[in-house]
Amino acid sequence: MNTTNIIDGNKIANRIKNEVQQQLEELKNKFSITPKIVSIIVGENPATKVYVNTQCKVCEELGVKIEVLSLNNDITEDELEQRIEQLNADKDVNAIMLNLPLPQQLNQRKLQNKILPLKDVEGITAENLGKLFYAETPPVVAPCTALAVIECLKETKVELKGKEVVIVGHSEIVGKPILMLLLSSLFNSPTPTVCHIATKNLAEHTKNADVLIVAVGKPNLITADMVKEGVIVIDVGINRVKILDENGKEIIDEKTGKPKTKIVGDVDFENVSKKSSFITPVPGGVGAVTPCILIKNLVNLVKLQYNLPTEGYKIF
Ligand code: NAD
Repeated sequence: MNTTNIIDGNKIANRIKNEVQQQLEELKNKFSITPKIVSIIVGENPATKVYVNTQCKVCEELGVKIEVLSLNNDITEDELEQRIEQLNADKDVNAIMLNLPLPQQLNQRKLQNKILPLKDVEGITAENLGKLFYAETPPVVAPCTALAVIECLKETKVELKGKEVVIVGHSEIVGKPILMLLLSSLFNSPTPTVCHIATKNLAEHTKNADVLIVAVGKPNLITADMVKEGVIVIDVGINRVKILDENGKEIIDEKTGKPKTKIVGDVDFENVSKKSSFITPVPGGVGAVTPCILIKNLVNLVKLQYNLPTEGYKIF
C-alpha cells in the first residue's frame, strides 16, 4: 500500500504570499507603487460575495488596495462597457476583475474582453489566454486556478515529463488552461488527456493516469476503483454537501434548524487517498492557493505596466 502524502495548499499559499510580499515591498520602496485592484460585482450573488471577501482578505493581508465596485443588476451592456473603459484609462487602477456570474442581459465574453489585457489580473481575456498556446514563453498571467494546480504539482517535486496526465473537466478557466500550461514545454511535457461530460468511459481514462486532475463540481465522481496505485491526485472541485449520520440521515444544526453541511471535492478522498502517492485535500488544497496566485498575477502585471523586468511563471 502507498503512503499518501497530503499536498498542503496552505503551506504553498504561505510560500507564495512571502514571495509576493517581498516583491510588493520592493515596488513600494523602490518605485513608490502600491498596486490597486478594482473588483466588479453586478447584482447580488452569495457565492460571489464569499469569493470577493476572500479577495479582500488576501489584499488586506498583503497591503494591496482593493475597491469593490457593486453595480445594479439591471445595468446595460453599454453602461458596463463604459465603466470598464474608465477603469482601463485610470492610471491609479492596475487590475480589473469582473466577477461572475453576470445577469442574463450581459454578454460575459464580450465584457471580459473589454478589460485591457495589461490589467486582466484573472488572465481571462482572449489575448492572455491565447498566449498560453506559445511554448517556452513563461506566462505573465493565467487563470488563477490553473496556476494553483501547477503549484500543487510542483510541490510534489515529481517530474512530469512523459507522464500520463488525465484532466477531468474542460472549462475555460480550469481544464483548458491547465492543458496548455502542461504542454508549454517542447521537450519536458507530460502526455495529457482531457475528459469531460461526453467522455464515454471515464474510468478507462482515469485508471491510466499517473497524475489525475479533477475539476468538475460533482462530489464522489472519482472513486478508488477508478485510479491506479501511486497516482497523484489534484482535486479542484468545491462542493457543499449535507453531513449524514451512520444511518445516512441528515444531521440538523440545533442553532439554525437547518441540515449541517461541509465542503468536499470531486474525489472520494477517504478511499482514493489509500491508493494515491500524493493528494490535495478539500478544503486546504487547490482552493487555498488560488487567491495568492491572483496577487502574483497582479505583481507581474504591475511590473509590465512600469516596464520592470518580470520572469513570469516557470511551469517546468
Ligand atoms: P464548469 O461547470 O465550467 O465545468 C465543469 C466541467 O466538468 C465541464 O468540462 C464538464 O464537461 C465536466 N463534467 C461535468 N460532468 C462530468 C462528468 N460526469 N464526467 C466528466 N466530466 C464532467 O466548472 P469549473 O468552473 O471548471 O469548476 C469545476 C469545479 O471546480 C467546481 O466544483 C468549482 O467550484 C471548482 N473550482 C474550484 C476552484 C478553486 O480554486 N479550487 C476555482 C474554480 C472552480
